[in-house]
Amino acid sequence: MVNNDSVNKQIENIKKIVDEQPDSILREIGIKIIRRERIFFDEGLALFEKAGLSYVGALANFVRESLHGDKTYFNRNFHIEPTNVCVFSCAFCSYSRLYAHREEGWELSIDQMLEMVKKYDSKPVTEVHIVGGVHPKMNLYFFAELLQKIKAHRPGLHIKGFTAVELDYMFRKAKLSVREGMKVLHESGLDSLPGGGAEIFDAEIRKQICDDKVNAEGWLNIHRVAHLLGMHSNATMLYGHVENYIHRVDHMERLRNLQDETGGFNTFIPLKFRNKGNDMSHVAESSVVEDMKLYAVSRLYMDNFPHIKAYWPMLGRQSAQLTLSFGVNDLDGTIDDSTKIYSMAGAEEQHPSLSTTELVTLIKQAKREPVERDTLYKEIRNYKDMDRGFMASSPLYN
Ligand code: SF4
Repeated sequence: MVNNDSVNKQIENIKKIVDEQPDSILREIGIKIIRRERIFFDEGLALFEKAGLSYVGALANFVRESLHGDKTYFNRNFHIEPTNVCVFSCAFCSYSRLYAHREEGWELSIDQMLEMVKKYDSKPVTEVHIVGGVHPKMNLYFFAELLQKIKAHRPGLHIKGFTAVELDYMFRKAKLSVREGMKVLHESGLDSLPGGGAEIFDAEIRKQICDDKVNAEGWLNIHRVAHLLGMHSNATMLYGHVENYIHRVDHMERLRNLQDETGGFNTFIPLKFRNKGNDMSHVAESSVVEDMKLYAVSRLYMDNFPHIKAYWPMLGRQSAQLTLSFGVNDLDGTIDDSTKIYSMAGAEEQHPSLSTTELVTLIKQAKREPVERDTLYKEIRNYKDMDRGFMASSPLYN
């Protein structure tokens, strides 16, 4: 229940901050945000170029609290990465191995992946997240069989799988249209799509960092088709490498336009470039200030995205906690040490795994309200009043 006094106080506070802003353009943007009006390209750019962190942070926090109050969502999930063998060679990727060097990587069979699912039989996970490299021999029908077998084993488990990059390759190899290919996977059990592979949409930047994989139009079209088939998806942006602010706003603008068209995106997930073990190790990583500013501007610009997520295995748990004051209202999930994508790129989290108790504690330390959700943001449980001692002693939460 929203308390009117606290909402009025919040509006009074943000109005004061906006009134005191000396820059007239930033002040105008602030007034639009308070009125919940859309900001446009040049205004997004002005926020990146001219605004201080405290100003964008206060505005983003105002929007976050207007939409969700203190609620901070997470889910209980695990990942399956079928392979890190990949036909592509993105310059920022620390994870993949070319087919010629596949002995350095891994290739899981359907049975091995099914065994991984069975390991969670007695655990209250709600989602499996399946992404990996683009293996030349793992085709559409291989994955359709995997999906069918997972659903036959555990029908209630939500399967979120395959980046648009993996899907584009699978569909082209099977000589099917995006719609035909998507229907095969959807009917086999694929429930929704993750947001990976978007990187930065600008063609020139794509040429430098991921020249050979699906372009912006292809990525957007795959998500459009999924939405038209009734599936939801997420969207990402890989930031903090060779792109500039114009590229970031352009990226967000294209996603926002598609969301206006379909309404199928759940959450926007900015992903920080990490520089270990890849061909871009000479590029410095962004600072924490730059990270927080990016999250805040995302919250302000992506006005038709219900949620902004900080993916803690990539950002580290302390920075992820901080984002909760800069527009973020979702921290992804428990993960259970089942992804290597960011640990291989040098992220602090070398074995990303949080128990429900730890995740809830992390959120409460930031003075927010932890709410477990399913993949489509249906609330499963609010942990606001749950005792930490009780949680720590129960196998259900550890
Ligand atoms: S980012 Fe994805 S598509 Fe690119 S090389 Fe790595 S695994 Fe392959």
